[in-house]
Amino acid sequence: MSFLLPKATGESINLGIMGGTFDPIHIGHLVTAEEARQQFKLDHVIFMPAGTPPHKEQKYISPAEHRYIMTMLAVVDNPYFTVSRLEIENNQLSYTIDTVRRFFQIYKNGLNLYFITGADAILDIKTWKDYEELLEACSFIAASRPGYPFNKLKTIFGSAFAKIAKKIHFLEIPAMAISSTDIRRRIAEGKTIKYLTPEPVEQYIYKNKLYRQ
Ligand code: ATP
Ligand code: MG
Repeated sequence: MSFLLPKATGESINLGIMGGTFDPIHIGHLVTAEEARQQFKLDHVIFMPAGTPPHKEQKYISPAEHRYIMTMLAVVDNPYFTVSRLEIENNQLSYTIDTVRRFFQIYKNGLNLYFITGADAILDIKTWKDYEELLEACSFIAASRPGYPFNKLKTIFGSAFAKIAKKIHFLEIPAMAISSTDIRRRIAEGKTIKYLTPEPVEQYIYKNKLYRQ
């Protein structure tokens, strides 16, 4: 899958996967992943940039290689973080459940898998493919994100909430109303993005003239 991933030794391992488009990656992602790593004693966090969906009508997403490289630049100084090419090498839409199944094939029974998301993503979970199987197979770590209150989950799931909530760990992170959408908009408007993303990512964006329009 990737030579950068931790080896499957048969011993128990706690892995976090952080999925996203990472167009571009920013400090909201990094703070969330680092907080999850420490609180849940994760051995590694694997960033999983999504493949570029082949649909023409899809809103524009930067080519997967750019997103992969920016993610790599952002995590390179953290010994616990790595990036997987699994989804970007699969040209079709990749579903989280397929990625999770693949990880269990590789790490077998010793795997404790945590899927790390922001609150917006967890509020959407009912729309994910085979979400019930997903909640059986792994735990979720859901990070707070301004504008997406967790208590909406109760309304979404109603009486099934208690069961669902057992597999979701709610993580309070320092409020960060930062998004890739905002970074892209700032670039297009000629505004600074300094400190919103690691400096090498910022330089990569300028060097490759990303998000100019
Ligand atoms: P976009 O604006 O393009 O949707 P984004 O900032 O939401 O980008 P994604 O790549 O969509 O970033 O998100 C990947 C994951 O990171 C999602 O689970 C999302 O909820 C989470 N996430 C993104 N930004 C934050 C943030 N500021 N705080 C907490 N979680 C975040
Ligand atoms: Mg998003």
